[in-house]
Amino acid sequence: MRYQLACFDLDGTLADNVTSSWQLFHEHFAVDFAKREDNKKQFFSGKIPYAEWALRDVELWKERGATKEQFIEAMRSGTALMPGARAVLSSLKSAGMKLALISGSVNIMLDHLLPDHSEIFDHIHLTELYFDELGRLSHAKPTLFDMEGKAVAMRNIAEKEGIPLSRCVFVGDHHNDVHAARAAGLSIAFNSSVERLKSASGVVVDGKDLRKILPHILIP
Ligand SMILES: [Mg+2]
Repeated sequence: MRYQLACFDLDGTLADNVTSSWQLFHEHFAVDFAKREDNKKQFFSGKIPYAEWALRDVELWKERGATKEQFIEAMRSGTALMPGARAVLSSLKSAGMKLALISGSVNIMLDHLLPDHSEIFDHIHLTELYFDELGRLSHAKPTLFDMEGKAVAMRNIAEKEGIPLSRCVFVGDHHNDVHAARAAGLSIAFNSSVERLKSASGVVVDGKDLRKILPHILIP
């Protein structure tokens, strides 16, 4: 088989109706808009590293008294598994491919959409949120692998698995997937409106049926 490892983005790729889970939760918790924008500006101008941006945004949720139940409420009304996602993951797994999730999203989103994710993915990278015994958000462990980091994570996984990058697939939908798309043997821009990603990707799949990526991956 030509491809041996498939890496997936979560928000907008395996998760429908959500470009960024951070945005979904910011809106659900009605966080201070000016602070949220300031955190973003500081990251994109290079003043703070990604992990600091994530921690500051998590603080905004804590300020609002965010609980696990409220996160679940936000996801129930705001997102769902992408049509075809389960079929795709199980087809690739049955074909003997290794599967990875490399996402800037949060663990609670993956737990909600794919509660059996530990049986599906061989490798998972995302930001982890932790809750206290009363269900209140207590702290977070930010991923080191968003943006450029997505390509780094894919390289690390490929190396660990002994798979050359030419045999790795990356599937994503947004700006933060561009670096990984450039590094993968096959990159698929899925349901993407981001021109930079589309032009960095070998394949562009329009619409919201994830099954449409399979014929590009499952080739002898
Ligand atoms: Mg995405």
